[in-house]
Amino acid sequence: MKQDCFDYLIVGAGFFGSICAHELTKKGKRVCVIDSRNHIGGNCYTEERDQIHLHIYGPHIFHTSNETVWKWINQFISFNHFIFRPVANYKGEIYSLPFNMFTFSKLWNITKPEEAKAIIAEQAAAIKNEPTNLEEQAIHLVGTDVYQKLIKGYTQKQWGKDPKELPASIIKRLPVRFIYDNNYFNDKYQGIPIGGYTQLFTKLLEGIELRLNTDYFKDQLPEHKKVIYTGPIDQFYQYQFGKLEYKTQVFQHEFKSDTDNYQGTAMMNFTDKDVPYTRIIEHKHFEENATPHTWISKEYPVEYKAGESEPYYPVNDAANNALYAKYKELAAQEENIFFGGRLAEYKYYDMHQVIDSALAFINHHQI
Ligand code: UDP
Repeated sequence: MKQDCFDYLIVGAGFFGSICAHELTKKGKRVCVIDSRNHIGGNCYTEERDQIHLHIYGPHIFHTSNETVWKWINQFISFNHFIFRPVANYKGEIYSLPFNMFTFSKLWNITKPEEAKAIIAEQAAAIKNEPTNLEEQAIHLVGTDVYQKLIKGYTQKQWGKDPKELPASIIKRLPVRFIYDNNYFNDKYQGIPIGGYTQLFTKLLEGIELRLNTDYFKDQLPEHKKVIYTGPIDQFYQYQFGKLEYKTQVFQHEFKSDTDNYQGTAMMNFTDKDVPYTRIIEHKHFEENATPHTWISKEYPVEYKAGESEPYYPVNDAANNALYAKYKELAAQEENIFFGGRLAEYKYYDMHQVIDSALAFINHHQI
């Protein structure tokens, strides 16, 4: 065996790839990680600017109820006590998220859960059958007022589609509560890594051969026996059955020297369709941070162009899922190429779910 032949070439230095690289190296394998970007961490990458950790590809709040995942990640980093309590801004009116008694009280000038339930039941009465799309699901859960002010415009902007064309599952991600509780997540554990996410990836990849700015499809690759691929699966197969749809966005990062507190919250969603961005993130509020200045990021949804744009979210409607199933069938026939992560599995994974999936892959994988 030639000494410079790697056991595994891992394509992508995000969660799935970095976890595999770390765990396989621990098991004595020779691993090389490549990434087409100039940094590690995938979309979780954070960058320190003016003593603030910027979530360069959008807000990442870690949350999980999975004990194994929580224990695993805490080997490498510590978390602060951040609890995600975003707010919605609809034409200058501020509402609490996720949908809870603070939201209903402000909207309808009521105080009691029974009052909120009665209003929602009346507004949702038109939805007779099992909801089949996002619009029906949203009205079924929270009624037409919340849908019109806080969901419709935001969803249209974010996904570039009518909510009637989107799967109901997307809106089920958000809790609906008839108590005064604006914690966005229901999970047992939640927080932001102290010092940012990037150091986690630095630790995972310590001592491992890493080649940044390296494109799997265009650049010369080192010799290897097996591949773990975490990029878009349709790209891997040259889009032979057609292009999968992803939702994407661009960020405008702005330094504010004239204020230490721009919007008073880590995330404000702009739910009116006429505001061109979906949300503004103010990064310093993810951590306790006393800087006299601040950094904000405006998130603009843009049209996805396969091979050109950064893919962020899979669009798991029936047509795309059927197309993905065809690629998955091809992938299952590969002997030495393995696929994992949000893009290669075409799944709307949260961070903790990717970690779980990568650890499961390693545990069941025949090395
Ligand atoms: N959503 C909405 N209004 C909001 C926040 C979310 O309509 O103010 C809907 C929207 O369709 C979005 C979905 O809920 O795509 C899931 O939101 P989540 O916050 O989970 O999205 P992510 O943080 O993954 O972008």
